[in-house]
Amino acid sequence: MPQDTELARRLQAVTLRIVNAARHADRPAPALLAVGKTRDAGEIDALCALRIALGEARSGFGENYVQEAAGKIEALANRPIEWHLIGHLQSNKARQAAELFDWVQTIDRPKLVAALARHRPPRRAPLNALVQVNIDDEGSKHGCRPADVPALAAAIAAEPRLVLRGLMAIPAPHPDPGRRRGAFARMRALYEALAAAHPTVDTLSMGMSDDLEQAIAEGATLVRVGTALFGPRERR
Ligand SMILES: *Cc1c(COP(=O)(O)O)cnc(C)c1O
Repeated sequence: MPQDTELARRLQAVTLRIVNAARHADRPAPALLAVGKTRDAGEIDALCALRIALGEARSGFGENYVQEAAGKIEALANRPIEWHLIGHLQSNKARQAAELFDWVQTIDRPKLVAALARHRPPRRAPLNALVQVNIDDEGSKHGCRPADVPALAAAIAAEPRLVLRGLMAIPAPHPDPGRRRGAFARMRALYEALAAAHPTVDTLSMGMSDDLEQAIAEGATLVRVGTALFGPRERR
């Protein structure tokens, strides 16, 4: 199959999975964040063109590495894309992240809140911010503890150059999807408590290629999908 036809077929399949899962859960369909790590600007451009043709005014794309994203964001500057940083953010990259992205999903410590707010350029809209929660992965150093969410969220909400939009999580991989569903359910409880305290909160980012149905069943409003859209990644 020609490459673009294959891409269109995958986009259609992912869209169908999302719509079906939402219908099954009796929830609104979440937004799709296309994860472009290891993909070049041409591949992202091709997917963006398909999404525009399907009527999306602005499409979300996620990147893991600030450095890798910089070139793509520049190359695709004329495309109607909202860029999300979904990879771990080192403090010394906070300035670049605040300049480049529309969203940062991986805020997990107070130091990042201050750095992102300080470096968000005045000519740009406030940066959309998600708190990354380490919901069940004791092996991961990334994400804050669930108990730390309220304080970190309050720190974000107090910064005029940031907008607190919600929470993000990457549950530990588990072969049994039911076990992941438990983590998604705990995220939903955290999210509902946060939304009750902060009127700007409207985003729960969870679910990837192999578990988006479980995440949607627990109320994901944004799913982050790489492999199911672009095909398997080369190891890096
Ligand atoms: C790579 C990545 C994804 C997408 O994963 P797939 O399994 O390829 O869909 C989602 N979220 C984060 C944070 C990622 O790093």
